[in-house]
Amino acid sequence: MNVMEREARYAAHNYNPLPVVLARGEGAYLWDIEGRRYIDMMSAYSAVSHGHAHPRILAALDAQARRLAVPSRAFYNDRLALFLEKLCQVTGLDKALPMNTGAEAVETAIKAARRWGYWVKGIPADKAEIIVAAGNFHGRTSTIVGFSSEAEYRDGFGPFAPGFVEVPFGDLMAMAAAITPDTAAVMVEPIQGEGGIIVPPKGWLAGVRKLCDRHNVMLIVDEVQTGLGRTGAWFAFQHENIRPDGLILGKALGGGVLPVSALVGTEELMSVFTPGSHGSTFGGNPLAASVGLVALRVMEDENLVERCRVLGEHMMARLKAMDLPAIKAVRGIGLLAGIEIDPAYGSARLVCERLIEAGVLSKETHETVIRLAPPLVIAKEDLDSALDRIAEVIADLAPPEDYPHRHRVRAEHFQAA
Ligand code: PMP
Repeated sequence: MNVMEREARYAAHNYNPLPVVLARGEGAYLWDIEGRRYIDMMSAYSAVSHGHAHPRILAALDAQARRLAVPSRAFYNDRLALFLEKLCQVTGLDKALPMNTGAEAVETAIKAARRWGYWVKGIPADKAEIIVAAGNFHGRTSTIVGFSSEAEYRDGFGPFAPGFVEVPFGDLMAMAAAITPDTAAVMVEPIQGEGGIIVPPKGWLAGVRKLCDRHNVMLIVDEVQTGLGRTGAWFAFQHENIRPDGLILGKALGGGVLPVSALVGTEELMSVFTPGSHGSTFGGNPLAASVGLVALRVMEDENLVERCRVLGEHMMARLKAMDLPAIKAVRGIGLLAGIEIDPAYGSARLVCERLIEAGVLSKETHETVIRLAPPLVIAKEDLDSALDRIAEVIADLAPPEDYPHRHRVRAEHFQAA
């Protein structure tokens, strides 16, 4: 049995991986088990924004693992406060609650919003509503998939928790109409990532902020994917010059090596948590806190946000200039982009499979969108080289009748380690 067969035999089939077996990563490069090198244009859904095996992050991970890793929050530890202080400083918010995965931080936000709704706003017991956007992605827990618009994420997993109201993404009028006296919070992604890299109209988030202010509703933004430099700002909400009441972070907060997430918020929102009301065995452990702290410092010290802004403008300009018949649209901001493929030419999955042969790794989202989210440390030459190969693969797409005659293997792109 090879690796793929063994995984298919022993792993539950909740993923359908692309056919490449990775063994090593460094910076923006990944190598497969045969030593072929690829440019990583996905960075684990933005979790590896600092690049693979960042030396400073690895050093912090190693040193802290040897000192103290997981004592639990039954006790204080000498790392957590430093991490959370830094997190409040970079976000401009007051208090943070550390968790591990993005979905857990989203669950934390839901609990915070509801408790705030009852305790502060005075919503009658069990009536609190949270407004979410169609096409959202906030994770995979049973509560979260309950308000997903994707049938595939929900199928067979009900009954679902009530209390969520869905409105179209980017539509202020619909949002205004959905707010009731029982609305505790609006929870949205500033740019929908898994939804297909959907950028809302300019001014939308600022408008949502105004609505929330007017109706005494908490605004919670999920920046698990868009946060920490990805869009060319520390946080995507900064493009709209607003301050949310709650901010959900994950992915890159773990420096590409550990799951580290957090809900960061205003004093008003975060003060609803009392001892015993929430927790996690691993949340806020000193190993995670050390890594989170160094992940934030590396972003600052290496100027990754500005770097992303500059490289991102370059990437978007190149994508917009591609002008290929198979491309229906390109969307994005910073180093987060989606290329929408005309299904008459093939699926985004097919493009990603051919990109493997061309030495570039990415992953489709939905059937039609190729997501581009390289590590923020990627060299400009590597970014350009990846974009060249992407353009070649897309230019090679033909309507289905032509396939497989036009399918050429681009072995010359591989480089041995
Ligand atoms: N929120 C957003 C916006 C995400 O993109 C994701 C993951 N793609 C999550 C939450 C869930 O994060 P995790 O997979 O770490 O639970």
